[in-house]
Amino acid sequence: MSRSGLHVDWTRCDGRGLCAELLPRLLVRDEWGYPLPSQTARPGPGGALVRVPAKLTADAEQAVALCPLLALSLTTEADR
Ligand code: SF4
Repeated sequence: MSRSGLHVDWTRCDGRGLCAELLPRLLVRDEWGYPLPSQTARPGPGGALVRVPAKLTADAEQAVALCPLLALSLTTEADR
């Protein structure tokens, strides 16, 4: 079994918040627009911002594809 996590490259992100709009169950925007884990999101594997449940994988993939600054990535880590 594997777990997916959503990573943000903070050197690229400009905080416009598109990802939070696409993943409202996982992300919220801070006061400057940068994505933060929502209250119900769980920590992701390997230091990822949030864990991505299987049912939200397609939405997360869409957010990765639509991030205008290529700041998002979706990684998979095998459970130990
Ligand atoms: S969509 Fe990309 S650039 Fe915009 S807030 Fe999210 S990670 Fe940052």
